[in-house]
Amino acid sequence: MAGRRIVVVGAGITGLTAAHRLVVDHPHLDVTVLEASTVTGGKLRTTPLAGIDMDVDEGADAFLVRVPWAADLCEDLGLADELVAPSARRASLWLDGRLRPIPSPNVLGVPLDPMTVAPGLLPDADLERLAGAGQPDAPLPAGDLSVGRVIRACVGDTVFERLVDPLIGGVNAGRADDLSCTTMAPGLLAAARSPDGLLASLRHASRATDPAAPVFNAPAGGMGRLVGELTSRLGDRIRTGVEATGIERAGEGWVVRTSDGTTAVADAVVVTTPAHVAAALVSPHAPEAASVLGGLHHASVVVATMAWRRTDLEVPDDQSGFLVGRGEGLLMTACSFAGSKWAHLDDPDHTILRVSCGRIDDERHDAMHDAGLTAALATDVRTTLGVQAPPVVVRLTRWPRSLVQFPVGHPKLMAEVDSALAALPGLVVTGAARYGVGIPACVRSGTEAAAEVAALIG
Ligand SMILES: Cc1cc2nc3c(=O)[nH]c(=O)nc-3n(C[C@H](O)[C@H](O)[C@H](O)COP(=O)(O)OP(=O)(O)OC[C@H]3O[C@@H](n4cnc5c(N)ncnc54)[C@H](O)[C@@H]3O)c2cc1C
Repeated sequence: MAGRRIVVVGAGITGLTAAHRLVVDHPHLDVTVLEASTVTGGKLRTTPLAGIDMDVDEGADAFLVRVPWAADLCEDLGLADELVAPSARRASLWLDGRLRPIPSPNVLGVPLDPMTVAPGLLPDADLERLAGAGQPDAPLPAGDLSVGRVIRACVGDTVFERLVDPLIGGVNAGRADDLSCTTMAPGLLAAARSPDGLLASLRHASRATDPAAPVFNAPAGGMGRLVGELTSRLGDRIRTGVEATGIERAGEGWVVRTSDGTTAVADAVVVTTPAHVAAALVSPHAPEAASVLGGLHHASVVVATMAWRRTDLEVPDDQSGFLVGRGEGLLMTACSFAGSKWAHLDDPDHTILRVSCGRIDDERHDAMHDAGLTAALATDVRTTLGVQAPPVVVRLTRWPRSLVQFPVGHPKLMAEVDSALAALPGLVVTGAARYGVGIPACVRSGTEAAAEVAALIG
């Protein structure tokens, strides 16, 4: 393998992971990472919040630890001791014009005990159903189904619409009625298909879980720490500010054309960009793969990091924030209480909120200029939290076409991409579109791509 060249396109967490694994596991390979932006990390970006002496995440701020991959990567990088869990673990939903606690315990919004559902949240008939085993009202057909189809069948429409859709749809700013249950929530699909019923099966699994174990982790100081560690280890193998503009066949290998007019010759190319960019890059060689990747929809979202004087706004320190139900008439989709959630953002003088907006079916923010968007989100914060004073710090981060949507049958679509690419040895496409948008899923996709490429050219 000595001297064989690999080009990784994109230095988000997927690309950084793929390059890191290649360098560590196959030190004789010559690895180059091309990154269009001037900085690495993609949707992991921790930057100073002007006006407050703190670094705050502009995109993702935590990763799930009940699945491996991201936690394993941190361990591998020696960051395990730096990981912290959110100090506040309770969250609420804005429904019917008021904040209501999300029943706990729940699995992705499905309450496991009807006694924990706050009065008025669900009709009596739904509470009665939640006391049962959660058998579907008709046998579930084989194959992938939408999250909505599964949950509606097992616990009813109201539980789905008021509790599950805001949680699962919130993960990728999607509509859970349209999202693949196999990709988004395979555990829910398996539980729904178990002979015991969805609820009985989830309750059984929940008894085996330590309720005090953290669900999320992040490096103290933000996700930028993980990006920084990977970036510094990869060193000058990363070329920032260089966009891959085309990939061409060159004998047995590949040539990657770039925005700075240079080319990068490679025995293998790992494309880790968002699916719509990957589609354009592979289209000359694998039009079928490009058509699948290009056909995936992406939601655009905005994160407004806003701070109020603490004398103007206090939020409960045992609450991590709230989600906003679809159809509540707000622009805001979620509000995270950064200082309650993370000890390192607990500023004595300011209350820092991360306010999100944008869904696959709500792109109003796209047409709003920054001042109008800020004003609209501040109004939503006033409506939900009652603060009258304006925020003293505002930072808007727009994330256009950032969250891929997984249609029913998504795993089959990815198999079609792989089979179209199989005829092109050394061209691998991976990233958030493969297993899910969550950081662990991206780390998994980068890790597997590295192994695949090493096996191919070994
Ligand atoms: C606002 C927001 C909040 C989120 N919160 C969480 C969270 O709390 N927890 C969680 O687990 N997940 C979260 N996610 C999802 C998660 O952050 C992403 O799915 C994940 O970071 C995607 O990583 P990636 O490397 O696959 O893609 P990206 O981060 O998109 O990286 C792709 C990289 O490719 C580069 N690129 C694009 N085109 C080219 C080109 N032609 N040539 C070279 N480079 C190119 C881009 O500049 C980018 O750096 C969030 C996402 C968003 C948008």
